[in-house]
Amino acid sequence: MELDRPLGHAIDEAARRVLPGGVNSATRQVGAPYAFTAADGAYVSDADGHRYLDYHAAFGAVLLGHNHPAVRQAVLTALDGVDLMGLGVTPIEVELAELACELIPSAEMMITTMSGSEATVQAVRLARAVTGRSLLVKFQGCYHGWGDALARNVISKPESAYGRDPLSAGLLDSAVDATLIAEFNDLDSVRALFESHPEQIAAVFLEPIPHNVGALVPTQEFVEGLRELTRQQGALLVFDEVITGFRHALGGYQQVCGVQPDLTAFGKAMANGFPTAGLAGPRELMERFAADVLLAGTFNGHPVAAHAAIATMRHLRDNPDFYLRTHRLGQRLRDGLGEITAELDVDATVSGFGGVFVLYFGTGPVSGYRDLMRNDHAAYAAFHRRMTGKGFLMLPMALKRNHVSGAHTDADIDLTLEAARDVLKEMRA
Ligand code: PLP
Repeated sequence: MELDRPLGHAIDEAARRVLPGGVNSATRQVGAPYAFTAADGAYVSDADGHRYLDYHAAFGAVLLGHNHPAVRQAVLTALDGVDLMGLGVTPIEVELAELACELIPSAEMMITTMSGSEATVQAVRLARAVTGRSLLVKFQGCYHGWGDALARNVISKPESAYGRDPLSAGLLDSAVDATLIAEFNDLDSVRALFESHPEQIAAVFLEPIPHNVGALVPTQEFVEGLRELTRQQGALLVFDEVITGFRHALGGYQQVCGVQPDLTAFGKAMANGFPTAGLAGPRELMERFAADVLLAGTFNGHPVAAHAAIATMRHLRDNPDFYLRTHRLGQRLRDGLGEITAELDVDATVSGFGGVFVLYFGTGPVSGYRDLMRNDHAAYAAFHRRMTGKGFLMLPMALKRNHVSGAHTDADIDLTLEAARDVLKEMRA
């Protein structure tokens, strides 16, 4: 496929006149100009008529595949009902919270927000209110949205994903400094922070699998240790399941590992691409939102997104094969890429979980953030550029993951592995 994009360039030029950087979210300009005009199932098309097999999947939000019939129908149904009231509650919001509480092991109540960032911002506030403490702990490399408190140490190399640490100008030092950084899969690093800041840490935030740096898989000992340590220390354990939620299991990664956090943030795949997210937890904590912790948002619980979320969750609940299938396809990709890189003697490590796969260009094993510093970002960029040229859409940033959706088929996996073999051979030549 030729990647000349005359229309893409024209749209990009027009976009740059009215949108800062030509996009509406920071990482969308990487590898641009892309201007997409159609999406169906596992495939998307751009304005210049190129068709791509989509592993980007809107950063993983599109779990069932684009334009999924059940979600589409639910959205159409929503349009026949109440659009937005801003007063009281709609039955659909109740149904959504009931369903989420039925599916998520640690959930007794859930608030609905518009984005994952809002869910984690609410978690920060609630944790501070509940504990009366101000410090937070997060893990190096994890991303929890754009809220001030957690927008630091997502990276440690300027050339990686966002190019800035803390993530944004305009943050108060006091906001950034109140977040302490620990090492993923290293319980001692968390213990040390509790020791050096006794009775000051309100919560530990964890992406159970840090997919914002690809896929670091936690040891069971690490997750269980965090649960025990936070309990002992009187801090909350917050799982940020904005990516892992609904993607890896109906009840999120907490169902996979059997460890229940105090609070859980959801988003992305929850409504198969429609804008809604949530924060769930036990009644005792969540009731604070009805007392002294502010929960507000004109569009919270929006009926269109709520209908889409219910349709997505029901589809997942009623089709238990969904996970078997996407996990099997993910495993095929991981195994296939592993075989190809071994055969071609490429210095690469394959990682992932379920339907998520990552190709790191560096020697494994990759179990902690430091291991990621061996990744050859230029090699990933070359791999990505060539795969895009062959019609495979993957995340353009190194240290990110790719997603299998419910619409991908075995034939798609065959094509992907064939293309990856050709690309890796070309790169070696
Ligand atoms: N938490 C995690 C783990 C994420 O990956 C993201 C987004 O990428 C967020 C929170 C923020 O979600 P949103 O982009 O919906 O605000």
